Amino acid sequence: MSESFSELQPFIGITTFARRPHTRDLRGADVAIVGVPYDGATSYRSGARFGPRKIRELSLLLWGYNNPLAVAPFEALNIVDFGDVEIVPVNIGKTFANIEKSIDAILDAGVTVAALGGDHSIALPLLRAHRRRYGPLAVVHFDSHPDTWDTEYDGEPYSHGTPFRRAIEEGLMDTSAYIQVGIRGPTSSADDLKDAQEMGAHVITIDEAMSLGVTSVVERIREKAAGKNVYVSFDIDAVDPAFAPGTGTPEVGGFTSHQALQLVRGLRGLNLIGFDLVEVSPPYDHGDITAILASNLVFEFLSLVALKKQRGT
Ligand code: MN
Ligand code: MN
Repeated sequence: MSESFSELQPFIGITTFARRPHTRDLRGADVAIVGVPYDGATSYRSGARFGPRKIRELSLLLWGYNNPLAVAPFEALNIVDFGDVEIVPVNIGKTFANIEKSIDAILDAGVTVAALGGDHSIALPLLRAHRRRYGPLAVVHFDSHPDTWDTEYDGEPYSHGTPFRRAIEEGLMDTSAYIQVGIRGPTSSADDLKDAQEMGAHVITIDEAMSLGVTSVVERIREKAAGKNVYVSFDIDAVDPAFAPGTGTPEVGGFTSHQALQLVRGLRGLNLIGFDLVEVSPPYDHGDITAILASNLVFEFLSLVALKKQRGT
């Protein structure tokens, strides 16, 4: 399909991510955009079920060329929009099973997954599927919260505050290369961040990140993750609510939009095998600024995948 003038206008037409074809035929595809509109595991404000659709909408503002990374991901990659995974709002177990089934099928086709959340609980089934294909994963986890709590609801193992503890328990992650970036805010006890560290997480709090600067944070990530299969999980609440108010559990004092972009660009050259972008909750957004940032962060990740393809690794 040739791109006519009208098809380049963001306000016209049917929405897929950046107007990529909506198909589940993965032949010849490099990357599949996958929506996971599940928010049943949030602990405060829900609404992340509307994240994938809104991120797709705002992705229509993306022009194609990434100047800082000098790559045109929509030309370098064959990207398809897989649509949304079938989720079951009242059943997290069935939802996780459906996510794993879809992601397994995509990975088996040799296609890289770009997942749009949804709340952060969906990282667990995503990590399970990627672990099956790639072995224990180096994980770069941008967040204001450690998400390594044992439980948030009276013994319930799954919520958006527990996915990385479960992932470690299940052996999905290479804990020598698990880096949390942006952690902040009050916690329920002095042990919350210590627990994450004792499970193996290398925690870079927001205070450390701000005093180190983005360049040094990136160096630390690269020291841990170089040469490994790297999965990136980006919780939009790593960014300050002044820049990303549309999220369920905002924490003040976070990264700027610019720092978030630089952090992702800093991962260039690592062996990125998959990523998710979660916790965008459009009902709490203002002027779509959170969804605009989210679509741009996905664009940066796609640019990294494009550079990886060009390297031929
Ligand atoms: Mn999170
Ligand atoms: Mn969070």
